[in-house]
Amino acid sequence: MTDYPKPPFAKQPQSVPGSQKKMDPYPDCGEQSYKGSGRLLGKIALITGGDSGIGRAVAIAFAREGADVAIAYLNEHEDAEETARWVEQAGRQCLLLPGDLAQKDQCYAIVSKTVERFGHIDVLVNNAAFQMTHQNFEDIPDEEWVMTFDVNITAIFRICQAALKHMKAGGSIINTSSVNSDMPKPTLLPYATTKGAIANFTGGLAQMLGPKGIRVNSVAPGPIWTPLIVSTMTDEEVQNFGGETPLGRPGQPVEVAPIYVLLASDEASYITGQRYGVTGGKPIL
Ligand code: NAD
Ligand code: MG
Repeated sequence: MTDYPKPPFAKQPQSVPGSQKKMDPYPDCGEQSYKGSGRLLGKIALITGGDSGIGRAVAIAFAREGADVAIAYLNEHEDAEETARWVEQAGRQCLLLPGDLAQKDQCYAIVSKTVERFGHIDVLVNNAAFQMTHQNFEDIPDEEWVMTFDVNITAIFRICQAALKHMKAGGSIINTSSVNSDMPKPTLLPYATTKGAIANFTGGLAQMLGPKGIRVNSVAPGPIWTPLIVSTMTDEEVQNFGGETPLGRPGQPVEVAPIYVLLASDEASYITGQRYGVTGGKPIL
């Protein structure tokens, strides 16, 4: 069993969206450990937020399972290039798609560029997100509320609508939600509200797309050690991150990736409309 890092962690404030390269300890995205076995051979995947954290771990796992991947991200070019290197080392192609998913045109552009390069989409992973910590409700800026919704849920609606034109029966959509979807952390109010929306959207869309043979599921991670955390949480939260879980530590991105592989693969052919927790022991009932 791998001895993954436990709190306390060092203070390491970063500005949004955060750089994985600067994190201590460096998040484990499976670079040295993930072993593929052809479970996604020949599939084409579009992964938003694929430069770092959970998205990078999913990109590496998908590539080692035989998929070509396109990764959308905001502006963290160094992190994205690092992900691309791992994908290419696995013998697969990686298309990099920087830009702001709060913009409608960017949501459409990432789909059209993926289809231009690869012809179609088999797996869509909606994983990019913004969050910010606020102690007081009164302090949440109106523009930040709207932007959080634009990036976290409206972009998912737009990307799904555009991507569906290029997906066929057997396709899989996987949305990253959070334990905050039904256990909202009050200091993350706008974010947690969008995560509830993602879980709900997933359940509804799965029912709409069932007749087309396209499956839709969501994953609800607990505390995972990624740039999102160090760029948006207080020093105290970062230092104790994951300590409150039954396993007593945060998860590493590599520990979240296997559920995405299952949900993307044909082995999950009867699994749709569901929500899967990866929480280090906090029950999701
Ligand atoms: P991360 O920072 O590595 O990934 C999030 C990515 O979203 C960033 O890399 C960034 O490029 C992208 N992004 C942010 N704003 C964007 C924008 N406007 N346009 C385009 N891309 C944008 O962090 P992560 O923790 O791996 O996050 C991945 C997903 O996991 C998110 O949906 C997050 O809400 C979810 N999640 C994380 C945790 C956790 O503890 N880390 C817990 C539950 C859910
Ligand atoms: Mg990033």
